[in-house]
Amino acid sequence: MNIILLGPPGAGKGTQAGMLVEKRGMVQLSTGDMLRAARTSGTAMGKRVADVMDRGELVTDEIVIGLIDEALDGAAASGGVIFDGFPRTLAQADALDELLSGKGLSLDAVIELRVDDEALVERITGRYSCGACGAAYHERSKPTKVEGVCDACGSSELNRRADDNEESLRQRLMEYYKKTSPLVGYYHAKGKLRSVDGLALMGDVEAAIAAALEG
Ligand code: AMP
Repeated sequence: MNIILLGPPGAGKGTQAGMLVEKRGMVQLSTGDMLRAARTSGTAMGKRVADVMDRGELVTDEIVIGLIDEALDGAAASGGVIFDGFPRTLAQADALDELLSGKGLSLDAVIELRVDDEALVERITGRYSCGACGAAYHERSKPTKVEGVCDACGSSELNRRADDNEESLRQRLMEYYKKTSPLVGYYHAKGKLRSVDGLALMGDVEAAIAAALEG
């Protein structure tokens, strides 16, 4: 089963993708993670996109389509692919259709995580994660038990994303409403869209997604 998780920044796409990976053996393809990895390893592309990402703008369609094209070859043999943060424009959605059909694959469902903007600001401006093991935390709703130390692996390498500040978030939301939200109508018209309440408790969101994937 191949699915897209669609929703604004902070809607919980990464968290829910992680659960699907764990429970269903699916592979998560996050263009945001791929771009951050390119920055960390200092590739020419990583350097090119750094400022754009920090400002909260979208990088070019060409770059992210290329990343997905490459990653799909390795992922196709798994228990299914979760596209997390891709596609974000209609051009990317068209390219994904072509890539999938070219590889003999298809898209089964698009899960839209619906949330309101106030909740997003609260979620995003408080979140941080462990640079060593990836465990996710939140200042108010899920702090580490010992300040500055990861509960899961004991590392003190706790980081915030460079674009998780109010100014970038405002820009990221603007990009979402202008360029990505038209995909809701696009996938609805194709009969693929399932919407779930992204503000429910994490386990309830997970159950709603499982139910949507059955239907
Ligand atoms: P994310 O981790 O999904 O929130 O993505 C972080 C940043 O990476 C975004 O604000 C964009 O600058 C860039 N990015 C990630 N995915 C895409 C995409 N599909 N299209 C364009 N830019 C993207």
